[in-house]
Amino acid sequence: MNFKDFTLFVRQIFDDKEGFIILHDPRFVGNERKYLLDAMDSNFVSSVGEYVSKFENAIVEYTGSKYAVACVNGTSALHISMLLAGVHADEEVITQPVSFIATSNAISYIGAKPVYVDVDKGTMGLSPEKLETFLKENAVKRIDGNTYNAKTGKRFAAVVPMHTFGHPCLIEDIAQICEKWNIPLVEDAAESIGSLYKGKHTGLFGKTAALSFNGNKVITTGGGGMILTQDEKLAKLAKHITTTAKVPHRWEYNHDYTAYNYRLTNLAAALGLGQIENCEKFIEIKRELTDKYKAFFAKTDVEFFTEPKDCRSNYWLNAVIMHDRKERDEFLTYTNDNGVMTRPIWVLNNKLDMYKGCQCGDLTNAQWLEDRVVNIPSTVIIPDYYKNIKDGKYL
Ligand SMILES: *Cc1c(COP(=O)(O)O)cnc(C)c1O
Repeated sequence: MNFKDFTLFVRQIFDDKEGFIILHDPRFVGNERKYLLDAMDSNFVSSVGEYVSKFENAIVEYTGSKYAVACVNGTSALHISMLLAGVHADEEVITQPVSFIATSNAISYIGAKPVYVDVDKGTMGLSPEKLETFLKENAVKRIDGNTYNAKTGKRFAAVVPMHTFGHPCLIEDIAQICEKWNIPLVEDAAESIGSLYKGKHTGLFGKTAALSFNGNKVITTGGGGMILTQDEKLAKLAKHITTTAKVPHRWEYNHDYTAYNYRLTNLAAALGLGQIENCEKFIEIKRELTDKYKAFFAKTDVEFFTEPKDCRSNYWLNAVIMHDRKERDEFLTYTNDNGVMTRPIWVLNNKLDMYKGCQCGDLTNAQWLEDRVVNIPSTVIIPDYYKNIKDGKYL
């Protein structure tokens, strides 16, 4: 592939002749400003305010989840999701090595240990086949109904797949395996708002799930996250332990659990409400961008990553698969030198200092992807958006 053709093509589709084109910019074109000012005027800026529940309700409606509980960020939502699923200190959690570091960190916050199982090449998410093989070779189901690691004697307290770059993983197959082995399923759906598996929203297949609204995700609250669950008891508990576990009373400060101050602020929720109203439109626009990339890469020798079968992906970050690590690095260097931001897929989590000692299955596919996958600019293109921004103001 001619790298220069690629950078010129990106400049043309983003209608930007000179600027640095970043990977994923936020877009505020709806009611965000209005809701944010309204939240300020109400004086309820922190965690008590009507925008928090309005935003939670909007997420319930959009995803079809029975319950949604807002959090300060996606990492905290994932942390609490795992606590709710019953993960304790000194237990083990099976996850994929191909992920943003938050997945492994959230496991560690509980004092549990990640165990890494491979992904498939077709989804970049946890491979059900590899999971089944790993469990057959390493797990024992005991009389208490739980599944334990034969090597360490620790309980496998959860399986945490991640929907990489918004592409749904083979979540139904994974859910079946989890059911068979009686291991709770927690979905890291941080990247997959609006992504559907057989028409059902990601994050609705397990016991709990986490969404993220960080500034670089499809929709943002600045920083924010959401716990999804279909269980009323867990939803109530989620709200309780993300808000310092205060026992309701007119004035007494009684708390019944060493809980967290993880509640989303009303200001952030106001921003989120404005964003979720446009989420479908954003995804429609993102998919038009993807079609343009598909057409471009069809004429090159580089493979463009497309959504898995039976899925609708939000195409959060578009991705290409280079031939090898050398070409990957050359592409990263050329594009970033020439004002088009590209990023490699994450360093496999099991290679990082904090997680080096963790048990791993065969990670052939993960390594293959690490050597080749590069993300390319994926911002929602709103016509004239770039031209209409001057001195930081939207005209
Ligand atoms: C973004 C993200 C999170 C959560 O990140 P926050 O910045 O804490 O909102 C978790 N997991 C994955 C895979 C992510 O991409």
